[in-house]
Amino acid sequence: MKKLVLTGIGRIEMIDSPKPELKNPDDVLIRIKTVGVCGSDVHYFTEGKIGSQVVEFPFALGHECSGMVIQTGIAVTRVKPGDLVAIDPSIHCGTCDQCLAGRPHTCRNNRFLGCPGQLEGCLAEYIVMPEFTCFALTDKLNQTSGALIEPLTIGTYSVERTQTDLRTKTIGIFGLGPIGLSVLMVLKTMQTGNIFCYEPLDYRREKALKLDTDFVFNPFDVDALDSTGKIEPLLLDLVFECSGSQLAVDDALNVLKPGGKLVLVGIPAEARYIFNMDLMRRKEIAIQNVRRQNHCVEKAIALIENGLPVEQMVTHHFRPEETQYAFVVVSNYQDGVIKAMIDFS
Ligand SMILES: [Zn+2]
Ligand SMILES: [Zn+2]
Repeated sequence: MKKLVLTGIGRIEMIDSPKPELKNPDDVLIRIKTVGVCGSDVHYFTEGKIGSQVVEFPFALGHECSGMVIQTGIAVTRVKPGDLVAIDPSIHCGTCDQCLAGRPHTCRNNRFLGCPGQLEGCLAEYIVMPEFTCFALTDKLNQTSGALIEPLTIGTYSVERTQTDLRTKTIGIFGLGPIGLSVLMVLKTMQTGNIFCYEPLDYRREKALKLDTDFVFNPFDVDALDSTGKIEPLLLDLVFECSGSQLAVDDALNVLKPGGKLVLVGIPAEARYIFNMDLMRRKEIAIQNVRRQNHCVEKAIALIENGLPVEQMVTHHFRPEETQYAFVVVSNYQDGVIKAMIDFS
């Protein structure tokens, strides 16, 4: 089968690789339909690592996928051959303290698709996954929206982690990539106060306006605090940082009101932020980190079934042969790209 592997920094090659086979009774053989290119894949492509997770070449990336069930192990009951499925890329052990505490996303023995040292990714014609990671889709979803379930679960979970009644809350979102837009789309399914989006790229701000955000700002053009304060003098209750940028964290602390909460979703390239502790202490800002998602796959599927316009973020479709180019486009923010998809079949 065809498989796409990272063979060095900035280099993806198509190789021929043996087709995976069922090993365990709960295994499912899946023919990949569509794979989304994620910001985390791009970190591995451009830097060869995220924090302490370092790629050993060659390595297949990709964790956002939909596929067709081809064959199932004897114990599989949730899905059957012919089903279009969304795949949760995370395989937890089910027995460690984290799993037992209902936190499979921080499982001590977690193996994640396309994560160095854990599992080869889904940029391949076929993969095998345990059945609990496979979610059969109704005809309200397709192979594109199915592959967008994974980023949408991050948005869903990020909103859930705020653990606040959002009805009157004023909210900021920094960074309007697929994750920032996912957060926005999830928030738009609820009643909230005004939503303010901060993003330097014009076409991404336009997308957020199409998705009905209340205000957009280019934080490189205007002062985030001044422009937010003109509209919301008491400032914001909640900010989602979805860009991974230090400048956004600085601005986020400025636009939050005392007692506000900063939700850190974006992945900083350098693995460290500097916080203005004087400001953060005086305002008594709470910080919530988000590690991928927990129990949000079915919720994300239901949101799409109920009309959440997740495909709005898709700007590009590529063939598997064009994967190298797709990664260049995404990593350089070329051609108005927001979400690029690789279509296998
Ligand atoms: Zn992702
Ligand atoms: Zn575990």
